[in-house]
Amino acid sequence: MLAIQVDQPGGPEVLKVADLPVPVCGPDQLLVELAFSGVNFIDIYQRQGIYPMPSPYVPGLEGSGVVIEVGSSVKGFSAGDKVAWPSSLGSYSQVHAVNAASVVRVPDGVSLDVACAAMLQGMTAHYLMASLYEVKPGDTALVHAAAGGVGQLLCQMISNRGATVVGTASTSEKAEIARQAGASHVIRYDTEDVASKAKELTDGIGVDVVYDGVGLATFDGSLASLKRRGMMALFGGASGMVPPFDLQALSRMGSLFVTRPTLADYIVGPGEMQWRADEIFAEHLAGKLNFAIGNTYALKDASTAHTDLAARKTTGKLLLVTK
Ligand code: NDP
Repeated sequence: MLAIQVDQPGGPEVLKVADLPVPVCGPDQLLVELAFSGVNFIDIYQRQGIYPMPSPYVPGLEGSGVVIEVGSSVKGFSAGDKVAWPSSLGSYSQVHAVNAASVVRVPDGVSLDVACAAMLQGMTAHYLMASLYEVKPGDTALVHAAAGGVGQLLCQMISNRGATVVGTASTSEKAEIARQAGASHVIRYDTEDVASKAKELTDGIGVDVVYDGVGLATFDGSLASLKRRGMMALFGGASGMVPPFDLQALSRMGSLFVTRPTLADYIVGPGEMQWRADEIFAEHLAGKLNFAIGNTYALKDASTAHTDLAARKTTGKLLLVTK
């Protein structure tokens, strides 16, 4: 089978096509023939070595496909079932052995491309607005990179809950995409000062919550955009990782909260991942949540997908077609 393999950390060129043996299905696993593998920003951090990885390794955390073999201890799954998962390393491949406890079933009416897109970015948007900070009608949320994968889903989920979204984007095309996704206002953070604009839009009060996956370039402006006792969710560093920070600043800026969450801590225990997936799929099937597939690439072109994502050329979800 074809897969992508990384032998050493580096640029997109370290994503090499490899002909590997089909993995053995362990007793607690499902062997899945993938239809799609999702490309996520975390794949770039792992490839670069910002997060330490084994060597060599097959990258990719997210996928969707059809079960072709069921492990001897697994109950409740059969060959032919459609499944998807948000976090199983080795997903840039045509066949993947995934722990049965790490997958969700894809309901009727949900296509495998949407199912894949709903996993890592979908569950991230869901935990950010439903669990980390529970968005309420009347809230105002600042969403950075609002035309991106997580960004578009956050805009939709937050506006569906009766809150106002202030998005940020780096081009007029991306600003329009963010508006289509539900942002009432878009700040062009390439040219405008985010904090003063956010304050202006909230009558000088500031926003209730900031969702910041851009990191280094936006962190200070994000804190300065918050209202007293506001919540800052720093969930990524697309522009670079935020360096160590003086906690005293939180008191000076209005008793602010800052958290640095990761999806793994929000899909814990039996049922939490399935609950998020059920809510996301239901919102999609009700016609209220669109998964914009920004681009698809052949599996062998994974390096192009990484190049495009890092160069800010993309919007929405990027998928590798694995069949
Ligand atoms: P996106 O589709 O949002 O792509 C990243 C976007 O960030 C770009 O399109 C760009 O939008 C913006 N950006 C700003 N500065 C830069 C820069 N210097 N280089 C590259 N991009 C930049 O990616 P994802 O939806 O996959 O991920 C978004 C963020 O969410 C990432 O930081 C990721 O790590 C994080 N994440 C965190 C999770 C968690 O649980 N903690 C889980 C999933 C994702 P623009 O051109 O408009 O500025």
